Amino acid sequence: MNTSDEISDNMVEARGPGDLVIILDRSVCIGAADCVALAPVGFAVDASGKVRFVNPDAESGSRIWAAARRCPTDAILLEDRSGTSLYP
Ligand code: SF4
Repeated sequence: MNTSDEISDNMVEARGPGDLVIILDRSVCIGAADCVALAPVGFAVDASGKVRFVNPDAESGSRIWAAARRCPTDAILLEDRSGTSLYP
């Protein structure tokens, strides 16, 4: 399990590969699991039907990006390590 930080009740953040920082907004996640299909090393859906981190820093950057772009609710936000928003 990768170390992640809880930002608020429904927001968690973890380091991804390279310069990526990944934020999961669990309040808007609908459990569609597209992200899990595209980046299974990085993400899973928990028992409550919400996305959670697995090992995001071991997932490839291209898979993380694909998962963020595919998420139907933009629940996966990407930043660089200086805090600049990259996606959406
Ligand atoms: S693709 Fe988006 S809505 Fe679906 S489980 Fe992943 S984060 Fe949640």
